[in-house]
Amino acid sequence: MSAPLTSIAIIGGGTAGWMAAAALSRVLGRSVAITLVESEAIGTVGVGEATIPPIQAFNALLGIDEDDFVRATQGSFKLGIEFVDWGAKGERYFHPFGVYGIDFGPIPFEAMWHRLRAAGAAAPLDAYSICAAAAQGNRFQRPLDPPGNTPLHHVGYAFHFDAALYAAYLRRIAEAAGVARREGQVVDVTRDAGDGRIDSVTLAAGGQVAADFFIDCSGFRSLLLGETLGSVFQDWSHWLPNDRAVAVPSANAGPPTPYTRSTARAAGWQWRIPLQHRIGNGYVFSSAHCSEDDATATLLANLDGAPLADPRVLRFRTGRRQDCWVGNCVGLGLSTGFLEPLESTSIHLIQAGIARLLEMLPGRDPDPAMVRRYNRLMAAEFDGIRDFIILHFHATARDDTPYWDHVRTMTVPDTLAERLAEYRATGRVYREADDLFTRTSWLAVLDGQGVRAAGHDPLAMAMPLDEARERLARIAAVTAAAAGRMPAHGAFIAAHCAAPIASPA
Ligand SMILES: Cc1cc2nc3c(=O)[nH]c(=O)nc-3n(C[C@H](O)[C@H](O)[C@H](O)COP(=O)(O)OP(=O)(O)OC[C@H]3O[C@@H](n4cnc5c(N)ncnc54)[C@H](O)[C@@H]3O)c2cc1C
Repeated sequence: MSAPLTSIAIIGGGTAGWMAAAALSRVLGRSVAITLVESEAIGTVGVGEATIPPIQAFNALLGIDEDDFVRATQGSFKLGIEFVDWGAKGERYFHPFGVYGIDFGPIPFEAMWHRLRAAGAAAPLDAYSICAAAAQGNRFQRPLDPPGNTPLHHVGYAFHFDAALYAAYLRRIAEAAGVARREGQVVDVTRDAGDGRIDSVTLAAGGQVAADFFIDCSGFRSLLLGETLGSVFQDWSHWLPNDRAVAVPSANAGPPTPYTRSTARAAGWQWRIPLQHRIGNGYVFSSAHCSEDDATATLLANLDGAPLADPRVLRFRTGRRQDCWVGNCVGLGLSTGFLEPLESTSIHLIQAGIARLLEMLPGRDPDPAMVRRYNRLMAAEFDGIRDFIILHFHATARDDTPYWDHVRTMTVPDTLAERLAEYRATGRVYREADDLFTRTSWLAVLDGQGVRAAGHDPLAMAMPLDEARERLARIAAVTAAAAGRMPAHGAFIAAHCAAPIASPA
């Protein structure tokens, strides 16, 4: 191993920059000097308010008290996503965290469910998910500890939070752990004439920040990874044509729901993210199919309460950088690519990048084989999420606008086509290697979007039909009873983590 790292410079102070600063300072202590450079004049993207359950591991790494974190970020709890009008207009389904029912030894739950459904003896999937059942009743509690045998031990959850408050929260943790913040705009990058490694960045007001290792968290601009080091951007807009979002906060109308809602619109979809002090809303759309003015009008016409600020348009390109790590620089966050926020995966990708970087923490001269491994793993992670997101658009009966016609009939990646074919034939869902999304997720979305399986896994025949029917009925009954015992989401927040009254915008 080469000489140990003595200094790391993080360029950018959005969610990615402060997540990296907080995690690295927590793990490395003061053994490595960490400097974060950010520019108030440039600002942050300022959205990114829904998460997925692995964030609990990130919070644990930071030693965060969860109630304190929810209180400080005006947060709420999330049990999954409700999808409205996706498979067909007028339909809705729930993509829950956690699991459906339980597997019967080697027989997967979904095998039995498909068999019983074909026999007219299964309830809709939601009946077997504690998260879906609780969401329907606006209820929430954390899973009972230690893990046991009732659905209340298997509540999967994540958070909604205010992105600006989240960055501020992480900043407090990072600065307390010794991270130095430099305000200023990076205008130049100096590289070694021999091996091309980055030596330092130069700030507009003068002065340089030198380091052994750099983390590019500069957002869509990808200042180091893209602009300086030339990591090529793979454009996925032929599969995911949405390239704009218009966002606006609105006043709450009632207690926060314990789930995100995603409603399909004529040229994209609208998010609704409930926080304690407001609701976050946005319309993600394709500029080839809808103007910014029309998207803004659609968004404003579909809010629960009064808008609390002027709508803001964000522009993006969907895809990823070929390599997330080049030389002595790793990219995290939007500098490495972007997949639209349909399944709240961006913050997770930042977390995954940080975890892998810690696993492979280099010396001053990173080992090329390890860099290749990092890039391979991050590429696979991005690509798996990409397929899952494309599924939502492609598996639909909607043909009511040119947008839906396009996404319904487009060619999809071979990896997704294979999954669809397997599911249509056998009802099988699977998780490959390090896939983020579980069998529950694939089953929820495939079935919810109206994809039907012609047969079922032969393993389901291993149990007599009557016994299977009885077992599923028992799971549904136990699930409904357990959900009925959970407190209301609003009451749970009031009891554990109510934020101080804040101005909503
Ligand atoms: C419409 C939309 C909705 C989203 N919703 C979700 C969601 O619900 N869930 C989720 O997980 N993710 C979501 N995301 C993604 C999420 O917002 C980002 O992953 C997250 O905010 C991280 O952004 P970032 O830190 O990489 O970039 P940014 O927030 O853009 O931060 C970039 C930083 O770099 C600094 N910078 C840039 N150039 C320079 C320079 N020259 N000199 C100095 N500093 C510089 C900026 O000042 C800033 O501090 C969403 C994204 C969009 C666009």
